[in-house]
Amino acid sequence: MDDLQGNAVVNYTEREVSYTRVIEHKHFDKNFGQPQSGKTVVSYEYPQNWRRGDEPYYPVNDEKNTALFQKYAELAKKRGDVIFGGRLGEYKYYDMDQVIGKALDVSQSELAQER
Ligand SMILES: Cc1cc2nc3c(=O)[nH]c(=O)nc-3n(C[C@H](O)[C@H](O)[C@H](O)COP(=O)(O)OP(=O)(O)OC[C@H]3O[C@@H](n4cnc5c(N)ncnc54)[C@H](O)[C@@H]3O)c2cc1C
Repeated sequence: MDDLQGNAVVNYTEREVSYTRVIEHKHFDKNFGQPQSGKTVVSYEYPQNWRRGDEPYYPVNDEKNTALFQKYAELAKKRGDVIFGGRLGEYKYYDMDQVIGKALDVSQSELAQER
């Protein structure tokens, strides 16, 4: 079909619905001049309990992990040729807009130092 839900993201919070959100990808770029197809692609997101060996998506900023992160941060500071950032580099929860904003800020201050 051309259009399933008319919007990029629809959240489902009811216990009876097994997925938590439906993403209809074409709506993300339809206002930016991207050619639009007469068909659509949709992803369903399902919640999942974490088990050892699974991808750990979210930082857990407890005492133990924060102390471990500080050790990595100290090592990172010694590397003058790499800037570590984002969720992985800062061990911090970021949404996409925040992580991109932070990357722009860091690169701007880095470039300002070079001038
Ligand atoms: C399920 C889910 C849903 C999300 N939904 C939203 C949303 O709706 N809206 C929103 O704004 N944000 C959302 N986010 C958050 C968004 O994805 C993150 O904010 C963003 O991707 C963070 O960017 P990043 O560059 O910090 O980290 P990442 O995108 O995670 O990039 C880190 C990169 O480092 C690589 N890497 C890992 N270990 C190593 C290593 N040892 N050496 C070299 N490379 C390594 C990884 O492969 C990865 O490519 C969601 C995240 C998840 C997991």
